[in-house]
Amino acid sequence: MTQHNAPGTDAAGTDAAGIPKFRAVLAEMPIYKAGRPPAVAEGMPAYKLSSNENPYPPLPSVHKVVADAVGEINRYPDPTNAELAQVLGERFGVPASHIVAGTGSVSVAQQLVIATAGEGDEVVFAWRSFEAYPLMVLLAGAKPVPVPLLADESHDLDAMAAAITDRTRLIFVCNPNNPTGTVIHRAELERFLDRVPRDVLVVLDEAYREFIRDERVPDGVDIYRDRPNVVVLRTFSKAYGLAGLRVGFAIAHEAVADELRKAGMPFAVNRLAQVAAIASIGAEDELLERVEALVGERTRVLETLITQGWTIFDSQANFVWLRLGERTGEFAAMCEAAGVTVRPFGDEGCRITIGETEANTIFLEQAAQFIQR
Ligand SMILES: *Cc1c(COP(=O)(O)O)cnc(C)c1O
Repeated sequence: MTQHNAPGTDAAGTDAAGIPKFRAVLAEMPIYKAGRPPAVAEGMPAYKLSSNENPYPPLPSVHKVVADAVGEINRYPDPTNAELAQVLGERFGVPASHIVAGTGSVSVAQQLVIATAGEGDEVVFAWRSFEAYPLMVLLAGAKPVPVPLLADESHDLDAMAAAITDRTRLIFVCNPNNPTGTVIHRAELERFLDRVPRDVLVVLDEAYREFIRDERVPDGVDIYRDRPNVVVLRTFSKAYGLAGLRVGFAIAHEAVADELRKAGMPFAVNRLAQVAAIASIGAEDELLERVEALVGERTRVLETLITQGWTIFDSQANFVWLRLGERTGEFAAMCEAAGVTVRPFGDEGCRITIGETEANTIFLEQAAQFIQR
């Protein structure tokens, strides 16, 4: 006998009732929007200023160790990242046991959330801040507690301290903040940390640490030393130019680091990423010269924007933030048409990465035209 498919079913006979069940939280979750690659128009260069990447290609010395390691990709990498932890421990003056590496610091941040917060627990962070925070909190089954930024686009640490309840398990502090570039100074950070209960983990996300030139901003590594509930997150994706290899790490006291490792995937950081990260620490002077050049470009971009008449706050990261409100989409489209892709955030504003000098100049030309409109 021939089977006929009922209307609304496919050949396999599945219908809505046959779709695998997923956790209800997934229905509420937006999809992470990564910065778009540039649209390439004929005869015109296109630049990506939408993902805070480093515009410089890999150093020849880093390129070489990666190429050499390709010959061993039939083998699993070292699951303990022992050599990388050793090198990072020496670099930062901390025990190697305090280093936990992962596939980008985003992944380490997610391990921290999973390790601390579940159903009914709360995670506090500033908003707008890094887009991945609310997603990883929702995925863990916990409740995101976003605390609006102040009018000067910086963290409202008083409001964040006031948002702590007995269900708070973790607090993200993004310094400098993505996407606004604003920083927190030492005294205000310490005052805040003094108000956080000792059993709540504070994650200092310092993805852009190497771009900071404001001396009032503390180094998270100094802060964590005598505060067992503080973790520092760093990445090789931005200043060190290894975004494509996915490697970042936490610096945490042993009790925290041990739990954090349990929440990670075995063999997460691949061999190419491990050797590239180790070589990058070895070539740090050369890499930081490039960072210095980008900081110089940042100064040029900020000063030019101010001259053009924009109201902007200082940025200590490798991007600048324009609060454009409902004109956000219009500005992003205008830049794209001129050959630079920027990162719009709803009807709040655009984040523009400091990239190649030519790209920064195209962006500035668009900004000058836009403010005249
Ligand atoms: C880019 C970024 C990271 C790190 O990303 P990975 O590539 O996963 O290391 C972490 N936090 C913030 C705020 C970032 O902007």
